[in-house]
Amino acid sequence: TDPSKKISFNRCIRDGDLVIVYERHDSMKAVKVCENSVLQNRFGVFEHSDWIGKPFGSKVFSNKNGFVYLLAPTPELWTLVLSHRTQILYIADISLVILYLEIVPGCLVLESGTGSGSLTTSLARAVAPTGHVYTFDFHEQRAASAREDFEKTGISTLVTVGIRDIQGEGFPDEFSGLADSVFLDLPQPWLAIPSAGKMLKQDGILCSFSPCIEQVQRSCENLRSNFTDIRTFEILLRSCDVREWRMEGSKVDEGTSIACPPRKRRQPSGEGSVRDHQSSPAVMARPSAEARGHTGYLTFSRLKCIL
Ligand code: SAM
Repeated sequence: TDPSKKISFNRCIRDGDLVIVYERHDSMKAVKVCENSVLQNRFGVFEHSDWIGKPFGSKVFSNKNGFVYLLAPTPELWTLVLSHRTQILYIADISLVILYLEIVPGCLVLESGTGSGSLTTSLARAVAPTGHVYTFDFHEQRAASAREDFEKTGISTLVTVGIRDIQGEGFPDEFSGLADSVFLDLPQPWLAIPSAGKMLKQDGILCSFSPCIEQVQRSCENLRSNFTDIRTFEILLRSCDVREWRMEGSKVDEGTSIACPPRKRRQPSGEGSVRDHQSSPAVMARPSAEARGHTGYLTFSRLKCIL
């Protein structure tokens, strides 16, 4: 396969590419570029043929002079536009998973369930170009849709989707002792923990995602026999609206964070300096009303070394 097609978006858009059409911060969609097609939205009609040859990130115009941006389908954006066939992991949790599972290029990662493939897409990028993700779901249709998505996003050479009841049967024996990390997003993860332990290399790491603390407690009880360094995290995103503000004198609302912009060059006269100081803008950040709440708990643990 053409390596530039898989991972690097440092090239121009071609016929057949997947692009993320960014309309507004709350409106994006994935579109396959097709020379003879058009995209029609509230901003007008966009000819795909105008997009071909433009770099990813370009602003393109409609017949009514409306515009959208054509973004590269990174795992971060894909997670925001994919079709939800299940609950999915979002990028805040995904980032911690990849960091704490110590996933680097070349790793072999086992995952179950695949769900909508949100996490899988980021795992694939993290193991590229030489590693591989083997992901399992017992739901045939979900597995098939995930495969189609991985084709679309260009990661199918890095991911294999298997149909299997991981809670009932465990991971396939062929992976025994070979996995660098195992990730579980299953309703009863404790049933799959003994198998995950068998699959991991010495020192390998397991992560289990569960929405309820009771699931976490039960998983932790099962982890204690073969795993060590058990840690559970909950990620809560606190986004802030940031804007520039002109202050009257130095009075500021209580509870508002302020980062002062670089000082303006002062006027030569004393009076000028005072006026300049009073009207200088500050950057203010307020917690946004759109903050996301609880998604789940991430429990990490390392396989005990047998000397
Ligand atoms: N982490 C995924 C993502 O980011 O898109 C979402 C996973 S979804 C919440 C859970 C998946 O586990 C479902 O697709 C379900 O079919 C699958 N599942 C449930 N029990 C299973 C089992 N025993 N073996 C394999 N997969 C199972």
